Amino acid sequence: MVNDDLAAGARVALDPAQAHYLRNVMRLAAGDPLLAFNGRDGEWRARLVAVGKRDAALALEDRTRAQTTGPDLGLIVALVKRARLETIVEKATELGVRQIQLVVTRRTNADHTNLARLRAIAVEAAEQTGRLDAPEVEGPQTLNRLLAAWPAGRRLMFCDEAGDAPPALEALSAGAPDTPWAILIGPEGGFSGEERAAIRGLAAAVPVSLGPRILRADTAAISALTLWQAALGDFRGA
Ligand code: SAM
Repeated sequence: MVNDDLAAGARVALDPAQAHYLRNVMRLAAGDPLLAFNGRDGEWRARLVAVGKRDAALALEDRTRAQTTGPDLGLIVALVKRARLETIVEKATELGVRQIQLVVTRRTNADHTNLARLRAIAVEAAEQTGRLDAPEVEGPQTLNRLLAAWPAGRRLMFCDEAGDAPPALEALSAGAPDTPWAILIGPEGGFSGEERAAIRGLAAAVPVSLGPRILRADTAAISALTLWQAALGDFRGA
């Protein structure tokens, strides 16, 4: 994935990390073909040119696919331990989210956020799946602030481990497919009673259960995304 605009005949400079990856991991050399995308202009056939020790460039040829984006689905996830958070970003990208928002809740007990690393993980996962965009990964915000500024028209699938929410598929069956949604996953210590009440007080909130077992945040995120994609998203077909 690159940042520059893509067009026939354009030359796109790669950053040192990309040049290193293509040369030393993919073992590509000048003249080798590859596919490029930037999240806006579709997928382009390109050739690697000017491969140096720290830099490289692509020469663009022709467009192989028009730009596509997945459903308007965001994931809001509390900061959890680094390895789990990285898994969540990778799997959420594979499962087609458009945006990942990190959130700080009362019981959040992790304070690391290497946004650059999380963004790189999202880009690498996007490249591997063949999607033509990578989700934005937004830095941490408090849950209160997020709820106070909740955008009109976006539904919120609230994954509530407390056990009294309806099963996810039942709760989502009333949702309209073309509506923007987000999925909310709490921290390792779960949501406080006050937070649960505040989330449920939001008109857009749809509380759901992911079954009778308490899942780790990464398992909960993958399960919720899969259920949403099957009920309302692109698992249903084009
Ligand atoms: N409160 C739990 C505890 O400390 O025992 C753990 C919370 S769980 C590790 C993290 C998050 O995953 C929860 O806040 C919730 O969003 C989601 N989650 C886990 N299991 C769930 C379930 N069975 N139904 C709905 N959400 C679940």
